[in-house]
Amino acid sequence: MEPLSPEAVLVINQKISLPLLEKKKVELYIKREDLIHPQISGNKYRKLKYNLLEAKKLKYDTLLTFGGAYSNHIAATAYAGKLNKMQTIGVIRGEELANIWTDNPTLSAAHQQGMKLKFVSRTDYREKETTAFIDKLKIEFGDFYMVPEGGTNKLAVKGCEEILTAKDEVYDIICCSVGTGGTLAGLINSAAPNQRVLGFPALKGDFLKKDICKFVENGDWDLCTDYHFGGYARVDESLVSFINEMHQNTGIPLDPVYTGKMMYGLLDMITNNFFNPGTKILAIHTGGLQGIAGINLYLKSKKLPIIDI
Ligand SMILES: *Cc1c(COP(=O)(O)O)cnc(C)c1O
Repeated sequence: MEPLSPEAVLVINQKISLPLLEKKKVELYIKREDLIHPQISGNKYRKLKYNLLEAKKLKYDTLLTFGGAYSNHIAATAYAGKLNKMQTIGVIRGEELANIWTDNPTLSAAHQQGMKLKFVSRTDYREKETTAFIDKLKIEFGDFYMVPEGGTNKLAVKGCEEILTAKDEVYDIICCSVGTGGTLAGLINSAAPNQRVLGFPALKGDFLKKDICKFVENGDWDLCTDYHFGGYARVDESLVSFINEMHQNTGIPLDPVYTGKMMYGLLDMITNNFFNPGTKILAIHTGGLQGIAGINLYLKSKKLPIIDI
């Protein structure tokens, strides 16, 4: 993805020190993919990279994709489109947003980058992958390169295979947060034979394993399904205070939809002796920090504590 060239992406693995890790003799590092770009962060950069190259190769000048009100993928596509001089269209779940989207930090930032926003009902949104729905979009907007919801397809998985490098072979366990599973699939495909890959789903759903298997051949991997906090984008006070404590204790900001839940789950498993002493863990910080502002507005409206940025 130009001008964010792959060479420009120098990602560090940051060592975390916490009393818990010392007590359990477990080493934890965080791969700071969140630092790739403030808006095209972490895995969304990886997932768009080869899709953008493909769209250009096929001579498309417009990208169309789908997402919800806080979507990191919508934000990333809007910014990446602008940087690559391509038009972008975001099909957004929820008609009610049509009147209030200017108050939504993610959607107004996407619009500022030139993204056209089309709001559709939840019923229509469920039909978004049907030919009838896509044909209607083509009549309205002209031809476009379609990136699926969450950005996951074969080319996205290929991009996520570049997250791990040869230097990362020293780790025993690789962890990441899971939405559609595209990122996890890339990690599974590129992990070394001695490594185990653990995914932490941010939503309830038994479909995930099957979806992931579409993109992976084999590999040692599993899902840790106890840490979705009630479902996608569900946030409670304990998660908010965990995120704020982690930020204070380690300097690392986490988002409430994905990486916060993964780290909560991972530290809970460490507390419960899931890992042997001496285990070296690498957790992928997949980014997503742009979504915090929107979630904080929601938390404020519910008079709940907010995430310190
Ligand atoms: C989108 C996203 C994920 C989920 O990635 P999938 O490839 O859909 O599983 C994880 N973390 C962050 C920060 C994200 O924005």
